[in-house]
Amino acid sequence: MRKVKTGVKNYRQYSEFLNHDTEIEMDYYIKKNNGKKIAMINATSFGGGVAEILHSLVPLAKSAGLVIDWWNMEGTDEFYKVTKMMHNCLQGMEHELTAKEKEIYLKYNKKNAEAFADEEYDYIIVHDPQPAAMIDYIPKSRKAKWLWRCHIDTSAPNEEYWRFLAGFIKKYEACIFTMEEFIYEKAVLSNVAIITPSIDPFSKKNIPLAEEEAKEITGRFGIDVNRPLISQVSRFDPWKDPLGVIEAYKIVKKEYPSVQLALIGSMASDDPEGWEYLYRTLRRAGEDYDIEIITNFNGVSDLEVNAFQTASDVILQKSIKEGFGLTVAEGMWKGVPVIGGRVGGIKLQIDDGINGYLADTVEECAERILTLLRNMALAVEIGEAGKEKVRAKFLITSHLLNYLKLFEQLED
Ligand code: UDP
Repeated sequence: MRKVKTGVKNYRQYSEFLNHDTEIEMDYYIKKNNGKKIAMINATSFGGGVAEILHSLVPLAKSAGLVIDWWNMEGTDEFYKVTKMMHNCLQGMEHELTAKEKEIYLKYNKKNAEAFADEEYDYIIVHDPQPAAMIDYIPKSRKAKWLWRCHIDTSAPNEEYWRFLAGFIKKYEACIFTMEEFIYEKAVLSNVAIITPSIDPFSKKNIPLAEEEAKEITGRFGIDVNRPLISQVSRFDPWKDPLGVIEAYKIVKKEYPSVQLALIGSMASDDPEGWEYLYRTLRRAGEDYDIEIITNFNGVSDLEVNAFQTASDVILQKSIKEGFGLTVAEGMWKGVPVIGGRVGGIKLQIDDGINGYLADTVEECAERILTLLRNMALAVEIGEAGKEKVRAKFLITSHLLNYLKLFEQLED
């Protein structure tokens, strides 16, 4: 295990996004948790939504006076291969869980637990399946309350994988899901809570960028800033459906030839499948030079993601399974209309036809893109409504508050 260093936040700066009552409530719960030690444990500090959230949540909590550490598991390729398969199968993929896979998974959980055992915490929040079995290797006498935080869609998991995971998560004091419908088997879990993920309005990825500055940045990556741009920011992963995005773009392109597509994807260190899927995506794009496929290896970091989202005319998140989809909230926060797959956490964020669109198929997605490209007033209206939804529901401050409230409930 290694402790992750995070940036610095100024909790008071967030007041502008809080109404008076929420601010009072925040102060109350922060005081209540004064002196408590909190640990966050996950698999990686880079790539994907969990790392994104913790880079904001941990320093925000610190600046509010809470004592909180963020720990990353240490693993190697054999572990990440198993945990990626676990991730896929918990979202419903068919695959047989072998004895060897179990052995690898447990070996790394044991090793990491041993490196962690010296620390004394009041609340330990374990994110996703990768570190879920660590609880088995920590002495029972310890005072900490363990909480398991699920970021994926476990509504219809592969039964064998669920049984294996349930063996660990039923030992937790509470399990936190993003949506009620993701809870597969409530009866075996001790306490269940619903908390939605969030974005940080002050992160480099979400601070307001002037349109010209955003376009100057996208221009450097080969985008013609005078032509319309649609984009999707996400890992290269079948669930994110980058191939479907290209198909939707191709339909749009026939009717709206000036359109360009940017696919921005970071290669997460715990995602060994990413490269293979990136190559598939590149093959699907072929020789269409109006499709830009760009990764962190081309110099895309938070500011560039912000620029692509800000400079887009339409943002897509055409997922076919999605725990939440931070990129949806990020896109909506830029005031740009977002079209998402009608799945999982995307349905929590987009109210179809009001502050974005939900699409079931490639064709429907293409049709919605065309509607928005052809009707600028509608695009502006939907974009503004999207931003408002995020302000009301999906900012990091509410996220912190929800954790603190849950701690309080567990003390009752
Ligand atoms: N992301 C990024 N660069 C990329 C691709 C993704 O910074 O090239 C970020 C994205 O902005 C978002 C997170 O990674 O903050 C992805 O979170 P999401 O919940 O959308 O998906 P996950 O990868 O966790 O399934």
